[in-house]
Amino acid sequence: SSGVSLEQVWKIYDNGYVAVADVTFEAAEGEFLVLLGPSGCGKTTLLRLVAGLETVSRGTIRIGDQVVNDVPPRDRDIAMVFQNYALYPHMTVYENMAFGLKLRRVPKAEIDRRVRAAARVLELEHLLDRRPHQLSGGQRQRVAVGRAIVREPRVFLFDEPLSNLDARLRVEMRAELARLHRELGRTMLYVTHDQVEAMTLGQRIVVLNQGRVQQIGTPLEVYHRP
Ligand code: ADP
Ligand code: ADP
Repeated sequence: SSGVSLEQVWKIYDNGYVAVADVTFEAAEGEFLVLLGPSGCGKTTLLRLVAGLETVSRGTIRIGDQVVNDVPPRDRDIAMVFQNYALYPHMTVYENMAFGLKLRRVPKAEIDRRVRAAARVLELEHLLDRRPHQLSGGQRQRVAVGRAIVREPRVFLFDEPLSNLDARLRVEMRAELARLHRELGRTMLYVTHDQVEAMTLGQRIVVLNQGRVQQIGTPLEVYHRP
């Protein structure tokens, strides 16, 4: 299985700040789970804990059946898409997507297969030779998603990936991410402060407030119990 579960997880930063307090939730295998809450409520911290970019102060994080508290990021079989999807400006779209795999010494033919598959899914096939400055904001964001897809991770983590796009592109990319989820069928944890985004993308929503879980439910359940 490749669900993600958090059990009574706490994150207390070195300065004593409690960013995540007693958080328990589970994303089922293949589920699109949204973490929703205002700025500063601990969403990014939670993603970074799942990714292994921060250490857990207390509690247990599992990916599939494995407790990953002490597993380094590269061994967690996850890929994260950031808000500031910094692409390498001197590299083409193809090279941007291939780069992480090259570092991991994935054979060239396999890299080529994965990049082409991701480019097909994201409709980037005609843009593989372009450099980032020759792309629109939405296209750049798709390349950032492509870099995650080629890793073929069990779990995708999205940290407000649409917040730098204009309103029209956001709507377009929302639909694309929903399609991507249907197509890949992978577990996705998606962080946002945008209620509409949460309602349209999430199969279930975890509502966070000041580091704590306030509510967990389907969009309808959350909408009717504000
Ligand atoms: P969100 O993603 O919901 O905006 P964050 O997880 O980024 O929230 O931050 C949660 C809280 O933890 C914020 O108040 C933030 O200032 C604090 N915080 C984040 N990183 C650190 C850190 N390295 N040291 C101390 N406090 C931090
Ligand atoms: P290297 O830098 O090791 O020579 P490259 O990145 O130049 O590797 O390319 C390796 C392979 O990836 C090429 O043989 C080609 O099949 C494919 N490739 C690279 N760039 C593109 C591109 N823009 N469009 C399509 N295929 C590409």
